[in-house]
Amino acid sequence: MAEPVIRNLPLPEVGVEDVLRAEGNDGQHPPRQSIVDLYEDVLAESTTLVEPRAIWTEVEVEGAGRNELRLKGGLRLTSRLLVKCAGSAEKLLIFVMTIGAKIDEQISLYQQSGNISRAYVLDSVGSTFIALGSSMALSGMEKKYLELGLKTSIPLGPGHSYWKRLEDQQVLFRIAQPERIGLSLNDSNLMLPRKSVSMVMGVGNDLPEHNGQKHCDFCTLRGNCPMNKVVSGAKMG
Ligand code: SF4
Repeated sequence: MAEPVIRNLPLPEVGVEDVLRAEGNDGQHPPRQSIVDLYEDVLAESTTLVEPRAIWTEVEVEGAGRNELRLKGGLRLTSRLLVKCAGSAEKLLIFVMTIGAKIDEQISLYQQSGNISRAYVLDSVGSTFIALGSSMALSGMEKKYLELGLKTSIPLGPGHSYWKRLEDQQVLFRIAQPERIGLSLNDSNLMLPRKSVSMVMGVGNDLPEHNGQKHCDFCTLRGNCPMNKVVSGAKMG
């Protein structure tokens, strides 16, 4: 397997409206000025806390079964949707990104001191940063592969309704080694720091067209998930 690439990533542009969208506010009920002021203040604070970093590598795809993708080294990923989208890929990009532990620590401090509203807003801000940051980074990678004449599949990740087996995170960690940028898995195979994502994307010459579809389009939670609205409603650079 190739040596993983590690990069600090630029901060995505995040505005109050993005954070409100992440909380399920559809813009029909504009917030009071005092609320907007609080969100702007927390957003300003977050720029000192958010440290976007990513690690990624490629692994060869050796074959596909009905429900699993077989990778070089005897590793397997078990998602029927992944097989459908990337079963014909030559390789798989494994991408893991975090915005770091500082924001989790600050949220805990606010919770412990009873500043629950500020903890809540900072948590939403963190979710918005990781959703937009990872989406922006993966779009950039898609473009780079395209420039090399290669197609890519829809980025997918374990832990969404279309890919329930969270144990597959252990496979992604074995390949991409995100411990090198400070990530770990807890006993439930959830990533720490909390504001982190892991995604995989098939790469090759013979992949089905996805016509701009995103992973949320395949998720049963799509209608009720505010994070879906954050990415689809954002102006991506
Ligand atoms: S709708 Fe929500 S839960 Fe489903 S894939 Fe999108 S972000 Fe994940």
